[in-house]
Parts: sequence; C-alpha cells; structure tokens
Amino acid sequence: MKTEYLILGGGPAGLTFAQCLKRKGITDFVLVEKENEVGGLCRSEIVDGSPLDIGGGHFLDVRRPRICEFLFEFMPENEWNRYSRDSRISFSIIPEESKSGKAKTYEIHHPFEANIWELPKSQQKRYLDSIAEAGCNTGEPKPTRFVEWIRWKLGDAICGDYMIPYNTKLYANNLNELGTYWLEKLPNVSYEETLESCKQKKAYGSQPGHTEFYYPKKYGYGEVWRRMGEDLGDKVIKGMAVKSVDCMNCIVELEDGTLIEAKQIISTIPWNSIELKWAPTKIKDSIKKLKSSSVNITYKPEMLNTEAQWIYYPDMELDYHRILVRSNFCPGSKGYWTETRSERYHEAEGDITFRMDYAYPLNTIAKPDAMDRILDFASKSHITGLGRWGEHNHYNSDVTVDRAIKLAEKLTK
Ligand SMILES: Cc1cc2nc3c(=O)[nH]c(=O)nc-3n(C[C@H](O)[C@H](O)[C@H](O)COP(=O)(O)OP(=O)(O)OC[C@H]3O[C@@H](n4cnc5c(N)ncnc54)[C@H](O)[C@@H]3O)c2cc1C
Repeated sequence: MKTEYLILGGGPAGLTFAQCLKRKGITDFVLVEKENEVGGLCRSEIVDGSPLDIGGGHFLDVRRPRICEFLFEFMPENEWNRYSRDSRISFSIIPEESKSGKAKTYEIHHPFEANIWELPKSQQKRYLDSIAEAGCNTGEPKPTRFVEWIRWKLGDAICGDYMIPYNTKLYANNLNELGTYWLEKLPNVSYEETLESCKQKKAYGSQPGHTEFYYPKKYGYGEVWRRMGEDLGDKVIKGMAVKSVDCMNCIVELEDGTLIEAKQIISTIPWNSIELKWAPTKIKDSIKKLKSSSVNITYKPEMLNTEAQWIYYPDMELDYHRILVRSNFCPGSKGYWTETRSERYHEAEGDITFRMDYAYPLNTIAKPDAMDRILDFASKSHITGLGRWGEHNHYNSDVTVDRAIKLAEKLTK
C-alpha cells in the first residue's frame, strides 16, 4: 500500500492532523491505531451506567477559544457543560502543637501556596515561616537537582508535606532523575503576598490551568474524539499496532505484516514502542533514555460528600495520588475514580481498573538532548514527531490539537 501521509496513532494529535488534511481536500492519507477505539488517553467507557474517562480525568480548558471552536465542530458547544474549577489537596501532618502525636488531615483548594489562608492560624504560620526561609527568597543560589530545586523554590514545609510526596507518587520514586528546566516558569512565592492573602482571607497569585473548563453533558471526554474518528471513515485502521518503521525507505510495517509506503510519516506514538530500522546506534540509545510512567484508573461506586471535582492526595500511605469525583462533573452519575501510578497500584478483588501504559512522559535530565537528536534524525527520514509521545512532552489535549493544526498548516503549504 502507498500513501502520501501516514499517521501513526489515533489520539487527539493523530485525529486532529488527519481532520486538517481532510478539510484541505487531501484524501491521500491513512491513520493507524493499535486500539479498537480512537481517542488515546482521552477515551471513555461506560462503567456503572455512566461514562468514565479510562485515561484519567480529562477536561477541556476554555483558555484556547480557537481550539474549543475546532472541537465544537464535532461536538457542538451546547453538548458541553462549563464548570469553574473546584480542586483540592487533602494532606495529613502531625501538628507541632499536638500532644497526642496523632496526624491531622487538612483540605485546602489547589494550588497549595495560593490557599494557605484556608488553614487554621497555627498551620498558616508553619507555611509562612517556610516560605520566608525558602532559598529563592533568601538569595541562595539555584540548585540543579529536582528535590533541592523544589525546596529552594517553595520552602521545606510545602515541599515535605505536599510537593515531594505528591510528585513521587505521580512520577517516580527517584525524583532526582527529573530535570528542573520544565519548572523554570513557576513564579517565586512571595512571603509578603502570602501573608496578605492570609490576612484578607482570599487566594493569592495566578490560578492554574482549567480554572474554567468544559465537560460533555451526556458523555465522557472520549466522545468528541470518537466522533472525529468516525468522521474519517475508512481512512482509519483500528485495532492494528505499528511494528516498525524503515527509516531509509519510509515504509511502515504493521503487526499483521502489511507494509505501507509513505511520503511523510506523522508519528504520535511512543518512540520506544516501535523498532526504528536503519536508525544509528546513537538514536536508538537516545530512545532508550526516554522515560514515562503508567497509570491505573480505578472505579469506586461510593458517593462522596464533597463539591470538589478532583482532590490531590500527597499522603504516601495511600496508593493513589488523585481522585475524580465523577458525580460533580458528569450529570446523573455516581461514584468516583482513583488515579494511581501503576507501580504503586495493588489490585483489590473486584476492582474495575484500566491501565494506561503510557500516561506521563517524564521530564528527565536526559530528555531534551535525547529528543533533539531523535527529532532531527526523524525529520531527515521524512518522519515528524507530534503530540504527547511524538514530542515526549506533557501537552494537554488542547495544546496537542493546537500543535497538530499548526503542523498540518506547515506541511501542506
Ligand atoms: C491522568 C491524565 C490526565 C489528563 N488530564 C487532561 C485534562 O484534564 N485536559 C487535557 O486537555 N489533557 C489532559 N491530559 C493530557 C491528554 O491525555 C493528552 O494531551 C492527549 O491524550 C495527547 O494526545 P496524543 O494523541 O498526543 O497522545 P495519546 O492520547 O496518548 O494518543 C496516542 C495514540 O497512539 C496509539 N498508539 C500507541 N502505540 C501505537 C502503535 N505501536 N501503533 C499504533 N498506535 C499506537 C495509542 O493507542 C493512542 O491512541 C491528561 C493526561 C493524563 C495521563
């Protein structure tokens, strides 16, 4: 088989790129997806009578109206609810003033440093003191290793009680494998402004992503991607994994032995999930350096008494790091689901759980150089890396869609 554009992977990146070709009247393309359903990490399934996002909680940020408009063409705006974010952090510490030595659980809104004012006065003092002593506020030189860097930025108390355990649970046991380059944009936490926020009893600082977001009224997040895939008809080959790419001849081999020759390959799949034939050893070594983490999404039918849509749990005693309270964003549903890094997940009898092998691309120290080498080699072989895995970057789906639209514009000029 021969084609002009061969798209590897049918998640948001691959689907958007394919739709952009279709819009331009280009029909000479094929998209190959290994699962029986498109949507990648954004897929949903019906569990206990309502949709559940099997790749974890997914919400469409309102911050990119152009991207929302693009998605509304497949699922009109009136099929989505718009929400204001209510996300919280639940954490346990032994208060310094405690006589019993027993841990106490506190819950505040996310992000931590903006909402210290919600804590009792004694705890506010603990975090204010820690911010005042943080290296970035006392003029200490910036450390290069992840754990020290976080301490330098936020102070010992926020790090010890929240940032270090939470990031360990989410990403990796050894956080010092991670680089600090991706955290550079985090603003310094100001002691004066935090104190003012505690006095005025209101949040301080910039709000995180998804302050306002859309979620489908009747479906899971997967529905919009399912419709995009359906609209592509027989251009999509589902249930078929890509096995290898012959980089010299631009030929892809599928798991059933089918060969597809392409002029251009757009790869949105993890680089270490396929064999790259003819790639030099230094490229294969770079691919080996790419790391990622897996996640288990596990359904719990109990109803929780909270208005939060999701809650972060840094407590190391709990396997999971976040829960998604489905009944607070998916009308008519019940229950919640937990998100657990797969290495930490212990299956209990009767668990309904979904494992995503590739969930988070890790921003390791080695990643930037490795990706530069891989993408440079790939582009000389007419292969372009796109999306969360093709670029090995923590893109949210709206950013992925944006990047796919821009790439399609560039390649079809
Ligand atoms: C827990 C969690 C929560 C998130 N929350 C949000 C959120 O709230 N909002 C948001 O916008 N984004 C969120 N994201 C990010 C979002 O999932 C990604 O931005 C998006 O899925 C990236 O799309 P993609 O197409 O690049 O990758 P993916 O969705 O991973 O798609 C890649 C596709 O390639 C396929 N594939 C892999 N290997 C092969 C192979 N060998 N052959 C053929 N096909 C293959 C996969 O099956 C998959 O369909 C979240 C991610 C996670 C893990």
